[in-house]
Amino acid sequence: MTINTSIQAILEQAQAGKIPSREECVQLLQLPEQSYESALLRATADQLSRVKFGQAGMLLAQIGIEIAPCPANCTFCSFARGYTDLPASKMSLDDIFLHGKHLTAHENLHSLFLMTMHDFDFDNLLQAVSELRKHLPADVDIVVNIGDFERQQANELHVAGVKGAYHVRRLREGIDNTLDVEERWRTIENIRHAGMDWYTCCEPIGPEHTPQEIIDQIFEAYAMGCFQNAAMRRVALPKSPLFSRGQISELRLAQIVSVVFLAGLECKELKSLAVHEPNELGLLSGANCIYAEAGANPRDTEAQTERSRGFGLADCERLFMECGYAQVVLPSGKHADLQSNRIKLFT
Ligand code: SF4
Repeated sequence: MTINTSIQAILEQAQAGKIPSREECVQLLQLPEQSYESALLRATADQLSRVKFGQAGMLLAQIGIEIAPCPANCTFCSFARGYTDLPASKMSLDDIFLHGKHLTAHENLHSLFLMTMHDFDFDNLLQAVSELRKHLPADVDIVVNIGDFERQQANELHVAGVKGAYHVRRLREGIDNTLDVEERWRTIENIRHAGMDWYTCCEPIGPEHTPQEIIDQIFEAYAMGCFQNAAMRRVALPKSPLFSRGQISELRLAQIVSVVFLAGLECKELKSLAVHEPNELGLLSGANCIYAEAGANPRDTEAQTERSRGFGLADCERLFMECGYAQVVLPSGKHADLQSNRIKLFT
């Protein structure tokens, strides 16, 4: 089998620690996902990722703590005001604690995320964070995935115990929803200014997104020094306006994961790379992080995603172990064992 020499040169440079240029990343994204070169790309990213992250995964979990018709109206999300049929609800503090207890039961969770709609009750969130901080083990970070917020609010969240925030300038932000791109960037600056870890992602990727659009989003994240980058495909929800465009395969997503990883080789702030939703191909292509989910989930039509498409703690542990990971990293830098059903897998 012969290999495209220009792709070979890009991968060899990456093995020597040099990130591919934007143009080279476009070339990598233009490869057919079934090609020999794409397989080599994924294998290269997998090996370099295991070295960069010390052969340790990162296990995260998110609790969607409320549901409401969301004014951002993202045309791919199950909460968009224009077409959602999920009844509004707010999770009680007791239920948040209960999920937190289950998700940290194996003492190997790195961070617990609380997710809201774009509009949210700031005081309610602050209270939830403060109370949750008292209940969680010390070596578990609290992270928020919420709408846009001001600098003062970022500082208050940080003081209350929030260690990081997930925020994205999405693909086609302001086109596929009503949000303002500049406001998204201001919030990301506020996260950074408050000293919080910034989690981000190349999302929500659909078949229509061009390599150039994807590369722009990936390089923006590294220019701003993200703590975590990721790739997430858009899930085609039957009632959503973007349903007719379909969704990319996990194989294509894995190829994008590889490019996200290689483009971040020189990013000093980068501590992990996630794939959404959890899957083996992503974990074998440069990602070392997956999320368990409970409560509301924008990619689900059920209000309690732990009963539907959301992965549980044991599901994530099993997936890691099947992909050759025996340990995960904690915020302290210590490593913890994975213990899927207490079965020892030899890795
Ligand atoms: S993705 Fe987030 S901001 Fe967009 S509609 Fe859904 S909840 Fe609102």
